[in-house]
Amino acid sequence: MAGLMQGKRGLIMGVANNRSIAYGIAKALHAQGAELAFTYQGEALHRRVEPIAKEFGSDLVLPCDVTDADAIDAVFNVLKSKWGGLDFLVHAIGFSNKEELDGRYIDTTPGNFALTMNISVYSLTALAKRAEPLMQPGSSILTLTYYGAEKVLPHYNVMGVAKAALEASVRYLAADMGPQGIRVNAVSAGPIKTLAASGISGLREMLKWNEENAPLRKNVTIDEVGNSSLYLLSDLSSGVTGEIHYVDSGYNVIGMKTLDHNGE
Ligand code: NAD
Repeated sequence: MAGLMQGKRGLIMGVANNRSIAYGIAKALHAQGAELAFTYQGEALHRRVEPIAKEFGSDLVLPCDVTDADAIDAVFNVLKSKWGGLDFLVHAIGFSNKEELDGRYIDTTPGNFALTMNISVYSLTALAKRAEPLMQPGSSILTLTYYGAEKVLPHYNVMGVAKAALEASVRYLAADMGPQGIRVNAVSAGPIKTLAASGISGLREMLKWNEENAPLRKNVTIDEVGNSSLYLLSDLSSGVTGEIHYVDSGYNVIGMKTLDHNGE
């Protein structure tokens, strides 16, 4: 299967360190021959992302805070002048104030609601709009979501509301961009201990619950998310768009787990 992404060029947004889901995705894409560009949010992350880009043979490392429209424009201008086109885009970005990922959803403030929606939801649409003119038929856009979009999970709060809107955005963007042959999908990953996830209080309990109750009886890794993302970003999934693809050890299909003979 080596060389699945040979000749394809794509932008990875959302690497913070080598535990990031975007890192797992970049690793799987690089192994299949993709040429990658990376963005980072803020100078502190620049120092972390640059060596990671090198590891994947890339020296295209650009600043981009997605709340800054000019910064987004600048990224796509660079890609246009360096590459002339873009075959795929990975959006692995989410943010909400930590204090509101605790307690009750009802206490969400309008300021943090808007901020969470802007960074975690609207940014996908803002990026897709800039990517569209660079993309040929067969191109693919991927974002990351979580089961908290569909069901209430403790402490996920406003982020769950944001992920529901993100999943709806995937469907609307898929409909908008489908006639141009551009696909838009999401991977719904099970809980993984990353920088963003450690902002959610009770993450440890969530990981334990998932491991005990998911059909595969384990938590997923960024490599597993990376490999499934590779499918959605490659031509293997040329007939798939608007989908939410679960990479969660099967947790989402379970109403109540089948008990073992000893009742556990
Ligand atoms: P992470 O902390 O490694 O990555 C989050 C990224 O978002 C960081 O690189 C950060 O710089 C970026 N970001 C935040 N605000 C930004 C802004 N204003 N502009 C540009 N970038 C910004 O954590 P992760 O878990 O790898 O998160 C990636 C995605 O996966 C997120 O959308 C997250 O919600 C989603 N996800 C995570 C899990 C999990 O359990 N870790 C599960 C399902 C989905």
